[in-house]
Amino acid sequence: MGILGRYGDFFPLTPRTPRLDLGEGSTPLVPLRALGEELGVDLWGKFEGANPTGSFKDRGMVLAVSKAMEEGARGVICASTGNTSASAAAYAACGGLSCTVLLPSGNVAKGKVAQALIYGATVAAVRGNFDRALELARAMAERRGYRIVNSVNPFRLRGQMSGAFEICDQLGDAPDWLAIPVGNAGNVTAYWAGFVAYMRRRRSSRVPVMMGFQAQGACPMVTGQFTDHPETVATAIRIGRPVNARRARWAVMMSGGAFEAVEDREILRAQMDLARCGLFAEPASCTPLAGLRKLAREGRLPRGIRVVMVLTGNGLKDVETPLRSAGSVVELEDSLETLEGVIP
Ligand SMILES: *Cc1c(COP(=O)(O)O)cnc(C)c1O
Repeated sequence: MGILGRYGDFFPLTPRTPRLDLGEGSTPLVPLRALGEELGVDLWGKFEGANPTGSFKDRGMVLAVSKAMEEGARGVICASTGNTSASAAAYAACGGLSCTVLLPSGNVAKGKVAQALIYGATVAAVRGNFDRALELARAMAERRGYRIVNSVNPFRLRGQMSGAFEICDQLGDAPDWLAIPVGNAGNVTAYWAGFVAYMRRRRSSRVPVMMGFQAQGACPMVTGQFTDHPETVATAIRIGRPVNARRARWAVMMSGGAFEAVEDREILRAQMDLARCGLFAEPASCTPLAGLRKLAREGRLPRGIRVVMVLTGNGLKDVETPLRSAGSVVELEDSLETLEGVIP
């Protein structure tokens, strides 16, 4: 059962709200003992790549599209660096709505574009950056009576709170730290709201310290300066003007946490390390591990605490980077002897 069925009492559902359900949520929370020992903490990974479209975006999208249907919208539209469009297209298909996706030109991982297309969305690449694509989406939404399902849509963040509920349910309580990648800064805001809401209803006893991680080339939450030219291999967080910057800053401050930046090279190393534990996450999702490493190196990671990393998206969405960096396929004569020569 998806999140509307499992956590419906936390969401603004009415008898007229359709309960869309692709079985989103209920993602594995995986203990990472070896990596944890190395860092001196009790480390866990929340594998959001196991969601129906392969990212946490499904948690917000199921509610956003259900509410759009309740309100009589004819379709949904979004500007997206990839995962939002994949998710919007899937839930629109599930609900029988039309979906339009505006991609900023340049790096969008191929798997995500394939998803939007196969789910039946109209996909357009806009010559211009993300902000321009969002402006166009807003104008068109107005003209056509479509609902915008970018992270400006309030239902997205409400649905994403369910990630925090699940972590509390899976561990029996909130962890000491939550380590999470930050792009538009919606998810970090939603997780904080989720932990607070759960504690208020006495379904957990405390809230975690929120640690937000960005890529060095796209880290406006760290520098305090917005930028028009964000650059990083982690395309899902290649964002220079986070839509939810103010609320995210407040959330992280209230929790006693901080924002930190990591180099692309550290992100790719973290991706490899997680894969060697059996978890294939996309680059953006690996910034928390890279960041925890950096904090440990600098003596800023308290020993023995319980840390949950949110592994936001599935590595299969973007296979080009690992195909370049993770070694290559061995070409072989058809004989047992040559095979003997290459296996360990
Ligand atoms: C959207 C996304 C993020 C960033 O989340 P924000 O809410 O924009 O901060 C991180 N990782 C992945 C895989 C994403 O799809």
